[in-house]
Amino acid sequence: MDIEIRPGDITAVETQAIVNAANSSLMGGGGVDGAIHRAGGPSILDECKKIRETDLPDGLPAGQAVVTTAGELPAQWVVHTVGPTYAKTPEKYQEKAPVLASCYRASLQAAAELGVETIAFPTISAGVYGWPMDDATRIAVETIRSMEEQVGDTIRTVVLVPFGQEAEDGYRAALAG
Ligand code: ADP
Repeated sequence: MDIEIRPGDITAVETQAIVNAANSSLMGGGGVDGAIHRAGGPSILDECKKIRETDLPDGLPAGQAVVTTAGELPAQWVVHTVGPTYAKTPEKYQEKAPVLASCYRASLQAAAELGVETIAFPTISAGVYGWPMDDATRIAVETIRSMEEQVGDTIRTVVLVPFGQEAEDGYRAALAG
């Protein structure tokens, strides 16, 4: 499993799947969520609504993932996952860091089940949800690496998409470490 860094806008990345840092409602939002729905068109939201009506009436819990098609995006699939909000206190951090790791695991598992060979991730929780960039990028890299045995036969390439210099620096440091 190769891990690559490709800075910029994830909606333009031509991997088979891209991951959306969504919120529990799955009804769209700001940040990367808004960008994905804008660029992908209304079919993504239509599918999210159906998922809410059928499987997830209370919304998607943090740390889990669901898949829709990708509308007009170059990707074929959007994997929607919900990151935890950041909490500073050590007790809360202990509770939430595994949820952030779970986002990466659940997304990779869902993609592997579809036979996806290439997948791109934004820096989940590092925007509105306030997770410090160095820690968010470290958890991303460590968790993706830890999944190699489980999904590496299917997923060949994981693309990390830093949106800004701080994210890029974080990924580079994490990959070097
Ligand atoms: P969260 O609510 O999980 O924090 P955000 O969308 O606010 O989600 O931010 C997650 C990360 O996505 C942030 O690092 C933000 O800079 C980044 N981001 C925002 N727009 C894009 C985009 N078009 N492509 C890639 N990353 C993006």
